This record gives sequence, C-alpha cells and structure tokens, in this order.
Amino acid sequence: MTAKRSILISGNWKMYENHYESIKLIQELAALLRAQGVPNHREVSVHPPFTSIRTVQTAVESDHLPLALGAQTCHFADRGPYTGEISAEMLAKLGVTLVIAGHSERRTLLGETDEIVRRKVDAILRNAMRPILCVGESVDERSEGRAKEVVARQLRAALEDRPTEQVATCVIAYEPLWAIGTGETASPQDAMEMCSAIRAVIGEIAGPVADECLIQYGGSVNPENAPELLKAKNVDGLLVGGASLDATKFMAIVHAGHELVR
Ligand code: PEP
Repeated sequence: MTAKRSILISGNWKMYENHYESIKLIQELAALLRAQGVPNHREVSVHPPFTSIRTVQTAVESDHLPLALGAQTCHFADRGPYTGEISAEMLAKLGVTLVIAGHSERRTLLGETDEIVRRKVDAILRNAMRPILCVGESVDERSEGRAKEVVARQLRAALEDRPTEQVATCVIAYEPLWAIGTGETASPQDAMEMCSAIRAVIGEIAGPVADECLIQYGGSVNPENAPELLKAKNVDGLLVGGASLDATKFMAIVHAGHELVR
C-alpha cells in the first residue's frame, strides 16, 4: 500500500535578500497567503539567509502565517570555536524546523563532503529538526550513466545506520546539478525515475519507512513546469531557488496543480 504523503514546497532564498529586502518579501508573501491560503495536504517552508531568519520568524509568528521556517545550512557542532558558523542548536532556538543539508552549491563551491553532510544531518536531527538532504548528479555523471550510482552514494553516506524513525523524518531533495539556476529542468519522466530510485535506496537502507519520506525535486522550477513535475510519481514537493524570490511566482508554485488527486 502506498502511503499518503503531503507535498512540501520549499523556497531557498540563497544569498539573496538582505534584512530589508527580506521584510518586503515576507510581507508580500503574507498578503498572498492571506488571500490564497495553502491547499490542503501542502506544506510550505522558506529558507532565508541567516541574517533574516529572526525577521521572518517574527512575521510568521505574529501573522500566524502557514509557513515553516527553514535554514540553508548549519554547522555540525552545537557550539564551539568555529568562528563565523551557526549551529543547528541556535537555529532550533529560533523556531527553525527544516534545514537544508548538502546543497550542491555548498558541495561544489565550498568543498562539503559526504562526511560533512552526514555530520550536519546528525546535528539537525539531534536538535529535533528535519533535514532537507540534497542529492544530485553533475552533467558529466549523468552522461556517463552514473546518476543513480552517485545519488545512492550520497544517500547511503547520510542515512545509513540511523534509526528508521529518524530516516522517516528526513526530506530528500533530488537536485541535478545541471538544472540548478540554469533554466534547464529535468523532465517529469527523469524526475520520476530518479525520485523512484531514491525511494528504492531509502527502502534498502531503512525498510518500509521509505514510503513516509518526502522526496522533492529541485532545479529551475517555475510556475509553468511545477504542475507537471508535481504529477510525477514519487515527487512529493519542490525545492525552489530563483522563483522563490518572487512572491507571486512562489505562490503560483505553492498552488500548482493542486486539484491533483494523489
Ligand atoms: C536551489 O537553490 O535549490 C534551486 C533548485 O535553485 P533554482 O530553482 O534557482 O534552480
């Protein structure tokens, strides 16, 4: 029997939106949320830069916005001599509930290894938040036919040897590197194949709880391609970068294909 999973739409604001711009963006989103709401069985998270988290938290709480507060990364230690870093413990105290781990921009530009990503997932779970674990292959790995192998390695590194109930709370974001910020999107067929392969690997790691894990697709999602991507089997949501900086576009994605019966 297939589990009925909710859909999670997440907006990754990346290193855009300074403190003032974040106030404007969250106010625009708040107005649209008041007018349009969020469809049943959908959840929405926003992941501002660290400097805007407190501002966004205040807006979410005071206006009772149906938004989960997210972060884009964290350190793997809870506290210590790590100048400039922000810990999962600090984020949890701010009301953050979802933290992205292993985004490909951090893996490729900042040298985050599978080992570091695992330790970050440890920290996020230790602090009672949910990781959004990003996995995905490069264009070369895809053309060499190694996409599934690469993604399986990243999943095993982060999730193996954990209690199955912990694995069940993890969100996986399949984000092929060639689709991030490029305007190029995986076809719904490719997204379906990769997200199904991801669920199968989680099944090998953790057994039947694999059915409970949410698997998002990410990579140049926009209001036009979102409905088809959300129809793809085993795609339980979207991780949205660029389009999440525009409140109208982001809300169109939040509502995309919501008449869908899953
Ligand atoms: C992302 O930041 O995770 C992402 C998918 O970005 P974009 O939507 O801009 O491709």
